[in-house]
Parts: sequence; structure tokens; C-alpha cells
Amino acid sequence: MAKDFPTRAENYAQWYNDLVIKADMAENSAVRGCMVIKPYGYAIWEKMQAALDKMFKETGHVNAYFPIFIPKSFFSKEASHVEGFAKECAVVTHYRLKNDPDGKGVVVDENAKLEEELIVRPTSETIIWDTYRNWIQSYRDLPLLINQWANVVRWEMRTRLFLRTAEFLWQEGHTAHATAEEAIAETEQMLNVYADFAENFMAVPVLKGVKSPNERFAGAVETYCIEALMQDGKALQAGTSHFLGQNFAKAFDVQFLSKENKLEHVWATSWGVSTRLMGALIMAHSDDHGLVLPPKLAPTQVVIIPIYKTNEQLAAITEKVDEIVKNLKARGITVKYDDRDTYKPGWKFNEYEFKGVPVRLAIGPRDLENGTVEVSRRDTLEKSSFQIADIETKIEHLLQSIQDNLFQKAVDFRENMTTKADTWEEFVDLLDNKGGFILAHWDGTPETEQEIKEKTKATIRLIPLDARPEEGRCILTGNPSARRVVFARAY
Ligand code: AMP
Repeated sequence: MAKDFPTRAENYAQWYNDLVIKADMAENSAVRGCMVIKPYGYAIWEKMQAALDKMFKETGHVNAYFPIFIPKSFFSKEASHVEGFAKECAVVTHYRLKNDPDGKGVVVDENAKLEEELIVRPTSETIIWDTYRNWIQSYRDLPLLINQWANVVRWEMRTRLFLRTAEFLWQEGHTAHATAEEAIAETEQMLNVYADFAENFMAVPVLKGVKSPNERFAGAVETYCIEALMQDGKALQAGTSHFLGQNFAKAFDVQFLSKENKLEHVWATSWGVSTRLMGALIMAHSDDHGLVLPPKLAPTQVVIIPIYKTNEQLAAITEKVDEIVKNLKARGITVKYDDRDTYKPGWKFNEYEFKGVPVRLAIGPRDLENGTVEVSRRDTLEKSSFQIADIETKIEHLLQSIQDNLFQKAVDFRENMTTKADTWEEFVDLLDNKGGFILAHWDGTPETEQEIKEKTKATIRLIPLDARPEEGRCILTGNPSARRVVFARAY
């Protein structure tokens, strides 16, 4: 454990990267763009998975698993889909290696060329809709509400741990419906599930909206998204939910017999969040002392450290701590008693602060005499002394108040970092000197959006779902606009 890394103000990008590595969340691997998720990082991802999976099941979804390989021909069936993903596909061409005739290791066996090349899935709409053709015949087979937890590969050129990797872990929901209305309702429902998760578990406030056509998922009719703001003022797309219309049903010939006995194409949605959420979590809350984790996703919520000189003191402390641990566990609180004698208390304090453990308890001989324990909260770094009696109730409240405080801090930050711009000069000035979300008028054309992106690197993050109509003039062209959209530079 080391703290020799830059502060956020000195170098935000380096701060993030160092933090991920030094806090044992993940590291780069031998394969460019692919990361190793280490046990501490994976424990957080597992907590995210568990919470999301529960929410998916509560909304009627079930899990299944489809192959990692997709025949190349499947990809060509939906024209805009293949166009969107073609540039980042990994392709399997052979299935065997052989010894190099020159005796230098192994080479691809040209006699083992696949008849049809396989794509390592960048997303699974094609293979899933090819499968759904056999599963759906009548309206009685609908809706089909399926989720898959998997890895996907998108050959990204500029990668960053968690935020953008060539291989990432995610879940992808793929649902099939009898009507457009039902599919749109599903798309919106899952967007709300994502927003609920981001805000109530990650303590990260998100904006909800739809993407402009330029930013829409390849093959979707409408892409809904949640967008979060990081501490450096850049936006991060945290989750997407797509209304796919009948595009994939038509491409894969998935039809059903309606109640009226008519053959119709099925309506589709897909939705996903990835290990990028880990990056969002780290970037949203952590500080110059290290990670700050919201209690609901922290692998260890409370750590207890004994302060002692003699073995008798340790034995007395441990007896008391065992009781505290038992009571905390009974409330469902994850607690760790670190009584290792190989590290000094000061070292342990630093370690758990750096790893973002929300609450630290320290207990020494004097505390035992007084019936107290020293309590430190990671979010504010404040210390206080609690009576041990009924400690579990107090800790339970403390954890909730840390969760609430992190969320409120992020909400306040976003509020301060959301600004209206009415002229091009204002817009550019905000982007260069403040960052954050910029609410501005846009004439609604892809050309204007593209030109703004080329000139400033800012993109339309979303068109808010709750945008109020407001007459205005496009910041670039001066053409009429009916409402403001949200611009930002983004990850
Ligand atoms: P999409 O299928 O493009 O709508 O993406 C689904 C989810 O995966 C979104 O929440 C994206 O933010 C996320 N995502 C897309 N590309 C990557 C990547 N290279 N690394 C990590 N997450 C990603």
C-alpha cells in the first residue's frame, strides 16, 4: 500500500489510474486493452451484480447464456448494426495451431481454417434473435424477458482500466414483445432500474434521457441512457437501454401469430451496464487519500482494529470485539476484525482508509474501561467516540448516513457543475474553464452535432426525458430550437 500518487487537482487521469492499481482493484494484463480484475475490485463487482440481478428478477426477468462466438453471416443481417460494430470486432479464423517447421514455437495451421469465420461477441442481439426465432411462435410465447451475464469484446483503441477496455464484463438484457408500446415500456422500465441502482447503491446521481441519432446504438430505434458526472467535470455514460423496434425480428425473421391470428414481427429491447460502473464508482467519490466506497457496495463495511501492548490487553479487547462483531453481523453488516500482529495499527489505519472502508473502529484498553470505541468515517474523515452499548444500531445509522452523504455531495457537485450556455463563446468558455453538464440549444441536425464535436470534443450526452419546451437558438448555427439538450466532454 502506498500513497505516492498525484492529487486529483494535480493530475486527475493519473490519480484515477494509480488509485485503481494501488487499491488492488485491477491491473493491466499481458493483452493490450484487457485488464485483470483483482479480488478487491471483483468483490465490489459481485456486489453490483447481486443488487442488479435482484432488481432484474423483481421485474420479471430470468437469466440464460448464449455462445461467445457469433457466425460472421449473422452480423451482416442487420445493416446498421454491422456498420456500427465492424470496426471493433475480433474475428476467429482458425481452430488449430501446429509446430513451426522452423522449430520456433507454434504457428496457425492453415489446414484448420474455419469454413465460416466467427466473431467474438461485441454484443449478442444477433445470436439471440437467431435463437428467439425458434422460441417464439405465438403471442402466448411473449413477452420473453431474458438477461445474460457475460464478457464481450470490442477492439477499442484507447483503453482505460474499467472505463473502456477491449474485453469487459456486463449484463445484457434482451426482451421480445407483442407490441411497440410494451417494448417501449420495458425500455423505460430498465432505464429506471439502472437509475435506481446508480443512485441508491452507487450513490451516483444520474440524468435520464435519450441519445441523439449520432450517439444511438447501432440497430436501435431509440437509445435511452443514464449519464453521470465525474469529479473532473467529464460525463460518463453509465448505462443504456435500447428500443430496437422490429429491426432484429425482421433481420432474423422472428414472427408470431397475434391474438387476432395475424402473423407479425416481434418488438425488441436490449439493455446493458458494464464494469465501466466500477470506474464511475471510483471517480465519483474517491479523494486524495484513496478510495471512498458507498456502504452498500463496500466489500467490508466496518473494520475493527485493536490497540494494545500486551497479550492480556489483546485478549480482553478480542473478547469485547467478538461480541460487537456478532451483533453487527446479526444486522447484516459486513465486518472484519484485523488482529494481525504483523502490522502496526497506524499501518492498518492507512490501509483501510486507502481502500475506502466506510467505517473504522479502534478499541484499546482505555476504551474497554470506559465502555467506548473510537469511530472514524471514511467519507468525512471525522472521528468520534461511541458508547459500546447498542453499537450495532449506531453503526447501522452511521452507514446509512455515509451512504446519504455521498449521494448528496455528488448531487451538490452536479448542481454546481450544470450551467446554461446561450452563445457559442459562453459554451466554449464553459467547456474550457469549468466543464460539467452544459444546457444549450441545438438545431436538431446531426451535421451541427458533428461540427460541435469536431470543434470542441463535446457531445450531446442526452436529450433529457423531462426537458421542458423552451424556444431558443442553436448555439452554433443560430437556427431555431425547441428545447435545451445536455452537452459535455465525456469519457
Ligand atoms: P452498448 O451496448 O454500446 O449500449 O453499451 C452497453 C454498456 O456497456 C453501456 O453502459 C456502456 O457504457 C458500456 N460500455 C460500452 N463500451 C464499453 C467498453 N469498451 N468498456 C466498458 N464498458 C463499455
